[in-house]
Amino acid sequence: SDFDVLFDSPIEVGNQEIFEFNAAGVKHIVAMYGGGNYDKERLKVDMAKIVEQGTAIFGDNPNKHYTFIVHNYHNGGGGLEHLNSTVLGATRNAYGTEKGYKGFLALVAHEYFHLWNVKRLRPVALGPFDYDNENYTTNLWTAEGFTSYYENKLLIRAGATNQITFLNDIIGGLGTVINTPGSRVQSASSSSFDAWIIGYRPNENSKNSAISYYSKGEVVGLLMDLEIANATKGAKSLDDVMKAMYEEGKVKKRGYTDAEFKAMVEKISGINFTKFWAKYIDGTDEIDFAKYFAYAGIDAVGEIASPNKPYTGASLKVDRMVTVSGVSRNSPAWVQGLNVNDDILAIDGSSIADEMRNIKLPNPGLTLEALPTIAKKQVGDVVEVTVRRDGLEKKISLTLKESPNIRIKASYKADANAQQLAVRKRWMGV
Ligand SMILES: [Zn+2]
Repeated sequence: SDFDVLFDSPIEVGNQEIFEFNAAGVKHIVAMYGGGNYDKERLKVDMAKIVEQGTAIFGDNPNKHYTFIVHNYHNGGGGLEHLNSTVLGATRNAYGTEKGYKGFLALVAHEYFHLWNVKRLRPVALGPFDYDNENYTTNLWTAEGFTSYYENKLLIRAGATNQITFLNDIIGGLGTVINTPGSRVQSASSSSFDAWIIGYRPNENSKNSAISYYSKGEVVGLLMDLEIANATKGAKSLDDVMKAMYEEGKVKKRGYTDAEFKAMVEKISGINFTKFWAKYIDGTDEIDFAKYFAYAGIDAVGEIASPNKPYTGASLKVDRMVTVSGVSRNSPAWVQGLNVNDDILAIDGSSIADEMRNIKLPNPGLTLEALPTIAKKQVGDVVEVTVRRDGLEKKISLTLKESPNIRIKASYKADANAQQLAVRKRWMGV
């Protein structure tokens, strides 16, 4: 009908394996390229459930037909959303494990949810596109973050997860944000706005200076959802906001502004969200997750993930030399001046060759404290690290600390009251 629709329509010719299913009154076609150990019949059933659950949230499935183009690779992932199709990357032989299969369904849920959230219900900057210029928006936390958040909600409603795995997935995402130092300096709205210039160009300092609008947006979705459900005693949730915004977009025939989104959240919940916006969307406040989980009768607490274990905050890459590849904000390495690109020569006089002797390679997550001389130490001990920086040797004393990273423990209260149970039910939808 116009250039935007043409540009939004992937065309692929090949010898794909094609199968179909009907769900929500819509014909769905799946085109599998590259083979794989998927079970067609199982996929038809589970993908149909995801379609039905997505449609139930918005109350309307706007398509007559929808196509999943799946590229199966040795090691694939990611996806791109369109109005009535999506292109997914998948790992050819991952369908056979529960984890791999669930991961594929989560990707299906994510991209399918986008047919509403982003392709139709969208920030005002995201369509019709100005193809000649950058399209700035502060709302990728709703566009992408909420879509990631809804993966969890669609999966539990489709029966692909249960209450335990649902909660574990949610607290996993929450922990990622809390343990990323950049979440304390960059807000969800500024992360969205900066996507064009730095979002896809991460560097060694990104974890200290930035937070992904996917992961922070997922957390904002969680908190907002629980706040709405609590304020309405379980009568409403974020689902009602998404549906109402979708309806409003159809009437206005344009995308929403941040102020319009906030106004709808306040209308549905009946409470003011100005402080919430200031803390969690435009601000970088500490996330008071225990308060929000309590609304749904869930006890949640953050515990130090590695108590009494020495920590430096420096990560390493191993090439011709063993080199510092990252330094976490406010860690011992940060405070005492170890820098990215410093070559490690020795620890307390033990040569780096000796330190590396029993380290398995490749080792992408290698940390300085994994080296045996440091691993044997206690929190509070001092180690002397000899480095070479720009050709000059330098000795740096590090006082080992405990890592500030937390692990969240959460459990459903057996004695949750009636309102908490109503909030929980509305939130999960099961
Ligand atoms: Zn997405």
